[in-house]
Amino acid sequence: MGDSLIAEERELRSTVSKCTSCPSLVANRKQVVFASGPVSADLMFIGEAPGANEDREGIPFIGASGRLLDELLESIGLVRDEVYITNVVKCRPPENRDPLAAEIQNCAGFLRRQIELVAPIVVVTLGNFATRLLRGDSAGITTIHGQPERRSFGERAVWLFPVFHPAAALYRRPNLVLLQEDFARLPDLVRGGAPVPAPLDKASTSVAEDARNLDGATAQESPPQLGLF
Ligand code: URA
Repeated sequence: MGDSLIAEERELRSTVSKCTSCPSLVANRKQVVFASGPVSADLMFIGEAPGANEDREGIPFIGASGRLLDELLESIGLVRDEVYITNVVKCRPPENRDPLAAEIQNCAGFLRRQIELVAPIVVVTLGNFATRLLRGDSAGITTIHGQPERRSFGERAVWLFPVFHPAAALYRRPNLVLLQEDFARLPDLVRGGAPVPAPLDKASTSVAEDARNLDGATAQESPPQLGLF
């Protein structure tokens, strides 16, 4: 089981590394930044998109935000090799602009598959882009951070746990304090195990349904309100 998951994740990584769906990202990227960490992780972190450092090294969260993420992990007794880290969009947007809705849509099926393969206990969304995609609405991180929500997909359920993006905490001490407080809640959440899927949970969609939705989707310039669950 474990070996086949690892093989599937490797295959997905290879598929994504050759993706050419987003012309402006393909033209500017050095490489696709797929993920780091083990498929067996209980904790999965989802950021926004790679920056220049990540694009150069092919590893998510290795710049200033990544160093803060490492510190936050250390504060709860973890190192990055124990958690799975990825982004909503796997290629660096030029000039570090926000990812476009069409780019997020193009990558959404990959992210969903990663969540299915890792099947973590807790999915921590870092900032608004990941949170909005996974919640399927436009609620802001300032309002909903630190509140675990049960979300079902297929027969499984995870705790969705939105927190501030580390970049938003780098130069804003109040955000850093909130981020530290939210991280401090993670060990208990993981210890409690995955939630039991409930019939009243938000309706989940199949991968095929996601693909159909993505096929029919048109590019928007406003923040996307797609949903993965
Ligand atoms: N690095 C990443 O990999 N993702 C972010 O969202 C920010 C920095």
